[in-house]
Amino acid sequence: MRLYKTREAALAGLERVRQRGADLANAVVSLGDGKYATPSTSEPGKTWIVDMHREVCGCPSYRELNQFQDHKRPPIRCKHIWSVVYWKQRGGVV
Ligand SMILES: [Zn+2]
Repeated sequence: MRLYKTREAALAGLERVRQRGADLANAVVSLGDGKYATPSTSEPGKTWIVDMHREVCGCPSYRELNQFQDHKRPPIRCKHIWSVVYWKQRGGVV
């Protein structure tokens, strides 16, 4: 797993993260109460839970992206959070 050395380095990969999220959007499953299941790209059959109320994801990538984060700034979205954003844009039932 690659490690970001700074918040800026984490943000530099944003466009790629966003694109990978768009690729996952068709596989998003709504669990209700603002929670969604999105497939893991590295572990087939595994899903990550996204909480869109807080914009939090349980995946390791989210932790990595937000390791320099503080409460004053919005969290950096991982690809799973982006996948839910795109899923909603495509008319997914919330
Ligand atoms: Zn994630």
